[in-house]
Amino acid sequence: MKTIKDLDITGKTVFIRCDFNVPKDEDGNITDDRRIRGALQTIRYCVDNDCKIILASHFDRPTAGVYEDKYSLKIVVARLKTLLKIAEKITLADDVVGVDAKAKIAALKAREVLVLENLRYEAGETKNDEAFAKELADMADIYINDAFGVCHRAHASVDAMVKFFDTEHRAAGFLLSKEVNFFAKTIENPMRPFVAVVGGSKVSGKLEALRNLIEKVDKVIIGGGMAFTFLKAQGYEIGTSLVENDLLDEARTIMIKARKKGVKFYLPVDVVVTPEFSEHGISKYLPSQEIPKDWMGLDIGPASSRLFREVLNDAQTIIWNGPMGVYEWDKFSKGSLKMSHDIADTHATTIVGGGDTADVAQKAGDVDEMTFVSTGGGASLNLIEGKVLPGIEALEQ
Ligand code: AMP
Repeated sequence: MKTIKDLDITGKTVFIRCDFNVPKDEDGNITDDRRIRGALQTIRYCVDNDCKIILASHFDRPTAGVYEDKYSLKIVVARLKTLLKIAEKITLADDVVGVDAKAKIAALKAREVLVLENLRYEAGETKNDEAFAKELADMADIYINDAFGVCHRAHASVDAMVKFFDTEHRAAGFLLSKEVNFFAKTIENPMRPFVAVVGGSKVSGKLEALRNLIEKVDKVIIGGGMAFTFLKAQGYEIGTSLVENDLLDEARTIMIKARKKGVKFYLPVDVVVTPEFSEHGISKYLPSQEIPKDWMGLDIGPASSRLFREVLNDAQTIIWNGPMGVYEWDKFSKGSLKMSHDIADTHATTIVGGGDTADVAQKAGDVDEMTFVSTGGGASLNLIEGKVLPGIEALEQ
């Protein structure tokens, strides 16, 4: 895959598809600006090469055609100004491919930045619409994709738009190429022992990832809600914990495969149980063998954390995707926070999948201690599954 450094971009108009879909609180403030900071390197490179820079991103899920203020990229542009610290203008267009965007592009000078409004204000974006893609493509000489978080979706700005540029005029930005290299290279050629830590709610969401990982890793640690399907498959009473009964056979198959391949497979040995799915109910630690019939497990227990720490001790590569419990609630967040600290404390190359897992690492204050924290949840999971992402395929073709 070509990167921006392989292209001659000097003085050109460059369209950069960024992923500015940052989380915000109930007052609309940005709670984590990693995705904006992640895009800075590519943007600065374009500034230094005297480009006219057009940035485009989606933001949350507006209804197409309805310009609601809460979905505007206004707050992103404000943060971008603070972080980019350039003397030249950084402006926001009032629309995506409308009169205002076009007028502002026509007036754009070298080293200036124009941010288009939320791509998903236009129905054509998620429909991968050719005509819309062409309108975007007509804005620039060069197309750069730096939006790893959306590469698993065939949307106009990451897929249909790309074919309007030949290979001398399209490439990956620094962030995208770093994301892909980290996952692809690490998974294909890891330093061993290679440990996968997989958590989150359901087995079904990570089945493909598990199947692929079993072929590559030396050890697997399972936590979170999905652990209960595996525990039940082993014959344990799991009470009212999250379970996917239709996947019990699949869970058994994965464990048998792991045993045959010599992959060590670890499940929680104790859990934090509570009578109901509530933030403030009573709770206690119990061995995994002793979950009461009408209680549910919402986190791994302290013995599991200690065991998992031992398992991680000699790791040289760790890939982590999915929290160990309902980390959003303080009471059930200890297992996930501890897992984050334990991974951060190792000397291994540590790769944290985006989304919830990155959120845990952030809450735990461990982000700087990890080798790489992905900006894309779904996209990173797809890479672990061994899938070709549409956005990356479009660039490579
Ligand atoms: P996923 O999107 O599959 O990575 O799952 C993340 C979600 O799993 C988080 O919102 C957690 O609250 C949830 N989760 C983790 N452990 C459990 C559990 N034991 N029971 C129910 N939900 C869980």
